[in-house]
Amino acid sequence: MQIFKVGGVVRDRLLGIPVTDVDRVVVGATTEEMLAQGFRPVGADFPVFLHPKTGEEYALARTERKSGRGYGGFTFHASPDVTLEEDLIRRDLTINAMAEDDQQNLTDPYHGQRDLEARILRHVSPAFAEDPLRVLRVARFAARYASLGFTVAPETLELMRQLSESGELQALTAERSWKEISRALMEDQPQVFIQVLRDCGALKELMPEVDALFGVPQPEVHHPEIDTGLHTLSVLEQSALHKQPLTVRWACLLHDLGKGLTPEEEWPRHIAHEHTGLKLIKAVNERFKAPKDCQELALLVGKYHTHCHRALELKASTLLELLQSFDVYRRPQRFEEFIGACEMDARGRKGLEQRSYPQADYLRGAAQAAREVAVQPLLEKGFKGPELGEALKRERLKALKAYKDEASA
Ligand code: ATP
Ligand code: MG
Repeated sequence: MQIFKVGGVVRDRLLGIPVTDVDRVVVGATTEEMLAQGFRPVGADFPVFLHPKTGEEYALARTERKSGRGYGGFTFHASPDVTLEEDLIRRDLTINAMAEDDQQNLTDPYHGQRDLEARILRHVSPAFAEDPLRVLRVARFAARYASLGFTVAPETLELMRQLSESGELQALTAERSWKEISRALMEDQPQVFIQVLRDCGALKELMPEVDALFGVPQPEVHHPEIDTGLHTLSVLEQSALHKQPLTVRWACLLHDLGKGLTPEEEWPRHIAHEHTGLKLIKAVNERFKAPKDCQELALLVGKYHTHCHRALELKASTLLELLQSFDVYRRPQRFEEFIGACEMDARGRKGLEQRSYPQADYLRGAAQAAREVAVQPLLEKGFKGPELGEALKRERLKALKAYKDEASA
């Protein structure tokens, strides 16, 4: 049997980028031979093994044939007579379809190295269209390598467009889609992911609520970029520049969905978009079965982001309601993420990227003031049950009034 490194490890070594996970393909072996050498089988679908010592992945060389809709609709053929070239041709991009042996001798039948040098993401063969997940993968790689100057080949974008229009994206499971989306959002240029999906018509299929924001104007005084879709891309861009976590990036993407519902005659204003957007945010959350913390933050940011922008003008009672809604006493981290997302929203505007955002520290201070109200003295006064809750609220309100007075003095 022969063993080759394949895919990302070869690509990233040639790019001079640190390699995280190593995938290997085994040519000329049977499952029985692998098991006899102590490899542990994983994956129900096709023959993949884990190395008994390193735990790294070894897959038997295989060919694939489309036999139905979606990811399940594949038949695999793995046997000792499948060649390396046959295995490589089923891969998505030419830069992902290179292999190397122990001496770093390159096998590159589909000219991945040429495309790597030309900074092009190009599909290997027309079989690309057989797995709709590849649309998301290409958009993700575009986001990851945008800073190196990579773009999607026009003929690949065309294939992605055909795939999107065929409705095949609907066959993707929430789990597979979310894995790609969440990884793409954590790249350095997540906005490129959304832009590429939009360019090939996939955004309309996957997240029509986000697609609908393009072409929707906002008031130029607050939004020099005017277009809500462009604003959303900038907010995402800021979220990566400021190294925000996934929860914040997800909330950034969805924060303005309500603006896509505003009747045209009300443009460029978007009265109550925070509320109209909530059902859309919920729908997108559920479509991709986003993790609970992402879902929660997206809804809270959608509902309260304008509160944050107006933080310095809020009455003490409104401040208190905001802090209570966030359960800031038990969930300080979530409130911090909320502030982060709102700051990204404020900076994701043309020419305003460097603006200061005093609202952030102001709200942090308010949360601190409310948190410092001690329960013990109220217990000592004999409050309990719902009355204790009310007394605590009164004390917190007092603290917030004092905080406001001090801040404005
Ligand atoms: P990463 O750095 O994100 O791990 P990678 O290229 O190694 O990038 P993997 O998901 O680990 O990506 O997959 C390993 C290889 O398997 C890819 O390089 C590609 O050749 C192939 N591959 C993975 N998923 C697909 C797919 N859906 N369609 C075609 N080829 C795929
Ligand atoms: Mg990999």
